[in-house]
Amino acid sequence: MHLETLAVHAAQRPDPATGAIAPPISLSTTFERDPSGEYPRGFEYSRDSNPNRAALEEAMALLEGGEAAAAFSSGMAAATAVFQALAPGDRVVAPNDAYMGVGKILRDVFLPWGLDVAFVDMDDLAQVREALETPTRLVWIETPSNPLLKVTNIAAVVALAKASGAAVACDNTWCTPIFQRPLDLGVDLVVHATTKYIGGHHDVLGGMVVSKSATPLFKRIRELQIQAGAVPSPFEAWLALRGLRTLPLRMRAHADHAMALAGFLDAHPAVELVHYPGLPTHPGHDIAARQMRAFGGMLSFQVKGGHDEAMAVAARVRLFTRATSLGGFESLIEHRASIEGPSTKTPVNLLRLSVGLEHPEDLCADLDQALRGQGRL
Ligand code: PLP
Repeated sequence: MHLETLAVHAAQRPDPATGAIAPPISLSTTFERDPSGEYPRGFEYSRDSNPNRAALEEAMALLEGGEAAAAFSSGMAAATAVFQALAPGDRVVAPNDAYMGVGKILRDVFLPWGLDVAFVDMDDLAQVREALETPTRLVWIETPSNPLLKVTNIAAVVALAKASGAAVACDNTWCTPIFQRPLDLGVDLVVHATTKYIGGHHDVLGGMVVSKSATPLFKRIRELQIQAGAVPSPFEAWLALRGLRTLPLRMRAHADHAMALAGFLDAHPAVELVHYPGLPTHPGHDIAARQMRAFGGMLSFQVKGGHDEAMAVAARVRLFTRATSLGGFESLIEHRASIEGPSTKTPVNLLRLSVGLEHPEDLCADLDQALRGQGRL
C-alpha cells in the first residue's frame, strides 16, 4: 500500500461505542477488569498504554515498516530510552554533528553513567570503520544532519555496523518515513521527534522509537517506556496522530518549497553558500538521491559577511518567524550558532530555515528583501 493511503488509514477505525470517525480522546488513566480479573479490551493503566497512544504507535510502525513502536513525551525522551536500554560499559558511535540535545545527553549524562561514546564524522566511512574496530553496541545516525545538512550513507554505515555486530539507530525526524525508510536499509531502530513534521503544527511535543522487529533491545525500550513513564498524554498522542494523517501531502509541499528556496538562495548575490541536499552541487546529493524520496523541508545558508550580517537578515524577515524548531506549517528562521552557545562549530553567518507551506514565491520575496537590506546591495 502507498504511504499516502497508509497515513490516512493506519489505525483509523470508527469508535466501536459511538461510531465517531474522529477518535475520541480517552482521558481515563485506568481501565476496567472483567469479573475474571482479565482486561479484555487490552488496556489496564494509561502509563502502560491507552487507546490514543496505541493508535499512534500502530500507525508509526506501519509507516516506517517496523514491527513495533513506543511513543514518548518528547524526541529527547525517546533518544534517552534508547541509550538507557544499553548497559554501562557499552560503546556507542555517534555523529560529531548529532542534534545538539543528543550530543549533550551523551556527553553530560551517559558518559558519566558509564557508556563509552566515540564521536565521528558519519559521512567519512573510514572514520566509522576505524571507530568500529573497538567492539560497539550501537551506532547512532541522523541524516541529513543539523544544521549543515550533511548526508550519511545509511546502507554503508549499516554494512559496517553489522560486520562488527553493532545495532544501528537512525533519527529520522527531518525526513519522516515519507522521504526515508531507514528500516528498509537495514537499520534496527528509527527514532523521531514527533514534535516536528509528524505533529506538523508547532503545538505538541512527542517522541517515538520504531523497531524493525521485537528484539531484546526494543523489549528493554518498551520496559523503560512503561516503567520510567516518559510518555505522551492521550491528547498529545491524538494531536500527533492527527498530524500524521496529512503528513505525505505536507512533506511534498515542504520539499518542493525548500527546493525552490535553495535554488533562489544559491543564485543570490548576498549568499555565500547554501546547504541543501537537493542541489546537485551538494556533496551528499548522490547519496541523498538514492536513499531519500525527496530532499526535505530543511535548509541552511551562509550570508556573505559574518555574525552581524546574518543577524541583520534574520531581523528583517517578515513572513518567516525567528524561532527554533522545525516541521510546522509556518516557516521559521534561526541563527543556529547563537542558540547552540559558545562551543558551537556552526558558522556564525549561518541561518537555518524550516520551510513552511506558504507560497514559495512569497518566501523568496521575503528573503530577498531581508538579504538586500537597506542599501546593502
Ligand atoms: N532529533 C532531532 C533531529 C531534532 O531536531 C530534535 C529537536 O529539535 C530532537 C531530536 C529532540 O526533540 P524534542 O525537542 O521533541 O525533544
